Amino acid sequence: LTSAPKRAGLHIVHIAAEMAPVAKVGGLGDVVTGLGKALQKKGHLVEVVLPKYDCMQQDRVRDLRVLDAAVESYFNGRLYKNKIWAGTVEGLPVYFIEPQHPDRLFLRGQFYGENDDFKRFSYFSRAALELLLQAGKKPDIIHCHDWQTAFVAPLYWDLYAPKGLNTARICFTCHNFEYQGAAPASDLAHCGLDVSQLNRPDRMQHNSSHDRINPVKGGVVFSNIVSTVSPTYAQEVRSAELGQGLHGTLNSHSRKFVGILNGIDTDVWNPATDNALQVQYNSKDLQGKAENKGALRRQLGLSSANARQPLVGCITRLVPQKGVHLIRHAIYRTLELGGQFVLLGSSPVPHIQREFEGIANNFQNHDHIRLILKYDESLSHSIYAASDMFIIPSIFEPCGLTQMIAMRYGSIPVVRKTGGLNDSVFDVDDETIPLQFRNGYTFDDPDERGLNGALDRAFRLYNTDQERWQQLVQKVMSMDFSWDTSASQYEELYQKSVSRAKAANRS
Ligand code: ADP
Repeated sequence: LTSAPKRAGLHIVHIAAEMAPVAKVGGLGDVVTGLGKALQKKGHLVEVVLPKYDCMQQDRVRDLRVLDAAVESYFNGRLYKNKIWAGTVEGLPVYFIEPQHPDRLFLRGQFYGENDDFKRFSYFSRAALELLLQAGKKPDIIHCHDWQTAFVAPLYWDLYAPKGLNTARICFTCHNFEYQGAAPASDLAHCGLDVSQLNRPDRMQHNSSHDRINPVKGGVVFSNIVSTVSPTYAQEVRSAELGQGLHGTLNSHSRKFVGILNGIDTDVWNPATDNALQVQYNSKDLQGKAENKGALRRQLGLSSANARQPLVGCITRLVPQKGVHLIRHAIYRTLELGGQFVLLGSSPVPHIQREFEGIANNFQNHDHIRLILKYDESLSHSIYAASDMFIIPSIFEPCGLTQMIAMRYGSIPVVRKTGGLNDSVFDVDDETIPLQFRNGYTFDDPDERGLNGALDRAFRLYNTDQERWQQLVQKVMSMDFSWDTSASQYEELYQKSVSRAKAANRS
């Protein structure tokens, strides 16, 4: 373990439960890698700390090696050894923590969804800080994400700043306020935090249950910078309707709370270089896109009789947030409108998974509908490339990445106007919006009529004005959804926070 050499930029350490492509469940994984790479490009030293999951894609880590020095960390009255691995993911230096704990904390064959997730991730949060301390690192920013690593904020101020890891400002990003990780208050003690100090209404106490503590609330209260993943969602969660019980807390801490729209990793999501595609293409060569459509149809056994038949794509976790009833409706509506529909999704909710398995079976050999109910990174690329339209009827959507990826691949988004979708998709027919921003179809009401209104309009343009459709496709493919702008906003927040701390130390 060596400390980082001094350099001009900031030293930023992300402590996270996901990082694409090695350990990705959803958008969080994309953000850690995309933001990290963009900040690295701007000259900052960016490092990432992750659990060493047995199910991670180890072949995507370069130069993975175990370090000589083990790190001991505290949990539930004992010290445990942690093997520390180092490697490079997408050009970013990453440390992987492998706890030598009898409960095999990250050897479970899945990232989340275990009964003891609270224990697994509070353990990890503490071990990650211990690693930074023992390695002698002096980060300017420690950036933690979602409830799984929100523990870092109170742990830092209560235990690690006093131990000498005291150069950092803490940034906490909540990628989705639906997941808060609340647990019985006494469970918090295991990672060494003082329950009697923290189980208070102005600290980590769950807002609707006084004997439970809420890690996300702890992240909000104890971080210097709190962000979420789009400006509209940042507004929405300050209301009782979408705040998931935390609107009061967010309003009290509103001065440090901002919404920054995520970008996408434009190296990974680039139809001109994407090796997962049948043929690469760009906005000036849409023949390539048509070839990918043909290839996907053959691969999935869909009819190729009409090359111009519109193909609607949908790639999502099948959870209530995503508007599953509207996704189901969109399948039938697409059929009525004469299109084809391809859904790639999987559900952690058994009754939703069963329902979609039923639909998948109904359409097993159908000419125009295919449901693929699994997680498949490579197939996702093929669907973005093959589809003409992309449907996202979310009930709420903190940011959403799929609309941006879809546009990069020339698939026109049809979305409900909420959260980050409202900040990135602007209706083609909305004359109040400057023409250069209009890039898709949106609807307000989360019901079948609302969805039909947008989908029908998309089909109408596709079917009646081929030239305008093609211009729209070329336009959305050239829009900038890279991390550049958003990373600059994080950079500014980090720098302001670091300067404020320095000024306070001087006075
Ligand atoms: P969330 O984080 O809520 O799942 P986002 O839109 O922010 O939603 O991010 C979803 C990411 O996960 C995208 O990169 C999308 O392509 C990917 N994804 C979702 N479901 C699947 C799947 N079944 N197979 C492959 N990739 C998927």
